[in-house]
Amino acid sequence: MPSTFCVPEIFLDANATTPALPEISQLMEDVCCTQFANPSSPHLAALNPKQILETTRSLALRLFNEPKGTIIFNSGATEGINTAVFSVLQNAMGQNCKDKVLLYGATEHKAVPEALKYWNSVFQLNAEVVAIPVDKSGQLDLGFIAKHLDRALIVCTMGANNETGVVADLPALQGCIRAQHARIPWLVDCVQVLGKVALDLQAVDVDYATFSAHKLYGPKGVGCLYVNQKAVYSPLTVGGGQEQGARGGTENVAGIAALGKIFQWLLATREDAAACSPFAPLTQLQHYRERLLKALKRAFPELTLNQPYPDSLPTTLNFSVPTLTSGQLIAMFDAAGIRVSAGSACSTGRPKSFVLQAMGLPDWQSEGAIRLSFGPATSSAYIEAAEARINALAERLDAMRSATQNGLEGVFVPQPTSSSFTVFAEKISAQSGRLYLFGHSDDAADWLATHFPAARWEYISATELTTPTWHLELNADQVMTIENRETQRVAQIPATGIALTDEEKQAVQVASIPEINPQSDILVDVRERLETAAQPVIEPYTQALVAPRAEWISLLLTLAEVPAEQRYITICRSGGRSAVVAALAAKLRAPTLVSAELGVTHLIQNSICTRA
Ligand code: PLP
Repeated sequence: MPSTFCVPEIFLDANATTPALPEISQLMEDVCCTQFANPSSPHLAALNPKQILETTRSLALRLFNEPKGTIIFNSGATEGINTAVFSVLQNAMGQNCKDKVLLYGATEHKAVPEALKYWNSVFQLNAEVVAIPVDKSGQLDLGFIAKHLDRALIVCTMGANNETGVVADLPALQGCIRAQHARIPWLVDCVQVLGKVALDLQAVDVDYATFSAHKLYGPKGVGCLYVNQKAVYSPLTVGGGQEQGARGGTENVAGIAALGKIFQWLLATREDAAACSPFAPLTQLQHYRERLLKALKRAFPELTLNQPYPDSLPTTLNFSVPTLTSGQLIAMFDAAGIRVSAGSACSTGRPKSFVLQAMGLPDWQSEGAIRLSFGPATSSAYIEAAEARINALAERLDAMRSATQNGLEGVFVPQPTSSSFTVFAEKISAQSGRLYLFGHSDDAADWLATHFPAARWEYISATELTTPTWHLELNADQVMTIENRETQRVAQIPATGIALTDEEKQAVQVASIPEINPQSDILVDVRERLETAAQPVIEPYTQALVAPRAEWISLLLTLAEVPAEQRYITICRSGGRSAVVAALAAKLRAPTLVSAELGVTHLIQNSICTRA
């Protein structure tokens, strides 16, 4: 396997993180090598590193419009949030907090509610942690805040949401919070807002504001916390008295230098849109987003936006496609060489976005949401490359749609009488499309409809079915004979389902990518149909068979008569599914299949690297 990838990916997940710009990594290297002295040292070598800290501090204050407060360097937003919450809740210790509340926006990054719950329990305050509801467009319910403010120890809100790009109305929040309670502690998580829309911390009287360098082309693990001079503050770490005692620990000087450079560029862009800075002005970012949305709508005409548009961060698109899950969409974008995310980066498994749920969006939207985000230093050429990939994907999807309009589509499944079937049915019922149950028991159809109501089951209540392509027959011994009428191939499958043991899966032969011979081996692509459409296996692997999940049976039929000496290699996205198909083939006594150890992306990269 090549150690580096040859196909550059289009990274559209900037709300999760951004790459360090070359100027930033160069600057950091210079600082690490030449300004390496400890800024707290008493000798002259400490002067430059100390200067770096103070320059960045004053650039930050200038960028935030000279609010009356200080900047404390730290490891990023999570630490900033914890420090602010720690300061406020420690200050409340000893008070009777039983009927107090800790308010946070329902769509906040989870660092906020987790910090509130954690410090509330450490300090044994027993205050109630309460989510402020949001409306359909993601804006906080000001009436709810006003109602609970009397009992609140802290209010935590965000500048812009990481999943939807919803930009908070900070002046309206200030009106609500400060009108009633001049000094209630107010934390605003500003991580996603900086560099994308204007932020003025003099105009809005917040107590704490968090920032992180890695969302703006700086390194991970460095950021800063703005603390209003009127706010309470307690250090989370103590030690050598760094940051005037506000945060113990030797400062990350190179990271802070990077942060300073970012602030300098942001100031330059703000003061002059044509300034020499990698950051694009707001109107340019809006234009980029429009271009991407247009391309996406071509690929997915049914696309529904899950955010107020255009009134949200100009760098974020959040959408769902009615018939596709976020897993299917991510696989398709991955296959097209575009990295996007489902909801937030922390979501795994079958994501259901709590942010979209809080906004009251239907389940299909919050389960199927895709977040596509780019950073404010994205170039026009990068957007063009992204558009080109999305347009190519649209073309392949169009071709696939017109090719599959006719004929009986779906998966034919055996009778649900074995436990392995339950697992199988559970997996495939999450698929979109029709599932045909072929057999002679009405009970089975009822059972399926009850247990897997989301799937579109169709019961074919005959022991024989003939379509232009297929002939299916179920005999009295519960053996299903399947014939592909186009290829005349026949296979027999037990109607009770097919269970694979661990031993059977482990017995599968595996080939690493460089071991695959494009001239003599035949690849069998077993990915989802959409993934295959998005990223076809390219030359020199011209002999690829495409056998998406819905057609595994036909794959087995196709292979039923291949010469034993021919090597067939199953390949999927990352190696798991191809091994299962190979094990299934072995179980059904089809010719031996070998499973590719890694997926199609690695294969393509290997082929390009080998040819280069
Ligand atoms: N807050 C928001 C809105 C974020 O998007 C993130 C990062 O994903 C964080 C906080 C955490 O930031 P950090 O990675 O700097 O701790």
